[in-house]
Amino acid sequence: MNVFKKSAPERIIKLDEVILQLTQLFNVFVIPPAFEPQVLHLKSQLQSNPSADLFKAIVNNYIQLLADIKKHLHLEQQETSQLLSSLSEQFTELGLKASGASYAAQLSAQQRNLLDESVSTQMSDLQKKSSEATTLDTLKQLVTTRLVNIRNEIQVHLINQEQQRQETEKQLHELTLKLKALDAESTELKLKLSIAYNKASRDTLTNLPNRRAYEEAISIEIARWQRYQSPLSLAIWDIDLFKKINDTYGHKAGDHTLVHIATLLPQHCRKTDFIARFGGEEFVMLLPNTTEQSALILANKIRKLIEQSSISASDEKISITISCGISQFHANDTEERVFERADKALYHAKANGRNQCIIAE
Ligand code: GH3
Ligand code: MG
Ligand code: MG
Repeated sequence: MNVFKKSAPERIIKLDEVILQLTQLFNVFVIPPAFEPQVLHLKSQLQSNPSADLFKAIVNNYIQLLADIKKHLHLEQQETSQLLSSLSEQFTELGLKASGASYAAQLSAQQRNLLDESVSTQMSDLQKKSSEATTLDTLKQLVTTRLVNIRNEIQVHLINQEQQRQETEKQLHELTLKLKALDAESTELKLKLSIAYNKASRDTLTNLPNRRAYEEAISIEIARWQRYQSPLSLAIWDIDLFKKINDTYGHKAGDHTLVHIATLLPQHCRKTDFIARFGGEEFVMLLPNTTEQSALILANKIRKLIEQSSISASDEKISITISCGISQFHANDTEERVFERADKALYHAKANGRNQCIIAE
């Protein structure tokens, strides 16, 4: 037996047992690869039946090796912890940026906070566990698991966001359709309104503007005449002996005559001239940029056109004539005064034998 004697107090240490214990101690913990050659060397020294002096040196080396391993592991743990800490920051940032800039506007703040919170929790958990972990394998496993978790969460988050984006897009599309429908409705309403306005300002029998439309037109033309001082003339037309047509051929023939006259009156007019059925068998014409002399030439052309035309009633051809009084707007004139003068001229035309156009005095 290998016995090592010690004095005061004298004790006997069984060296073989100590050597065995020291050798087995190496199996208890995982030796970092960098220390394996030293461990092997120590093991072989322990088994070489050392002398007392050598054994002392071996034990000293043994203690030193353990201290070095401990220091090495501690440093490694610190480095890993630092690495994980920086990883944690990067992953937290990754969580924040997970959905990318284009999604950022669509993400609800609440959901983003939930994801950030979850990523932070995973990372701090990872940090805690990593400081407890003793081997790199355990650490690797931890990191892998956590990374998979985080990636899954980001994926779920992105899927949710995509669903939400699609939902918002759908709602937007529906809203656009509703807006289009509203727009169409309002266009239709505008059209109906303009038709209604048109109806209210047109004579139903002849489809010419009515007296109400004339009132509007005359005020516009007077304002224009006052501003630009360009000549403006008014003509009042009255069908000759219209009562006789009604009495002889019936009211329907009378109506037919009115429609016939309404189609002939505008024939020689300009687009800017305004013609209205003023009432009964009377019509008015507003002639902008027209002197009374020019108005007379125009009026006589129309008068002759009507004189040469005819309508059919009770298998007969009926000739119609028309008379007209003309007046031009002069300085300080009012609508009433000009109308009165034209009406007087019309009266003279009737009194002079009808089928004629006369300029007011
Ligand atoms: P003058 O040459 O002097 O103008 O004689 P006139 O017969 O045309 O004049 P008067 O004012 O005596 O008669 C106008 C007639 O016009 C009377 C009325 O019955 C008729 N009349 C008015 N409006 C309408 C209408 O919308 N339809 C028909 N058929 N006749 C109408
Ligand atoms: Mg009349
Ligand atoms: Mg008449």
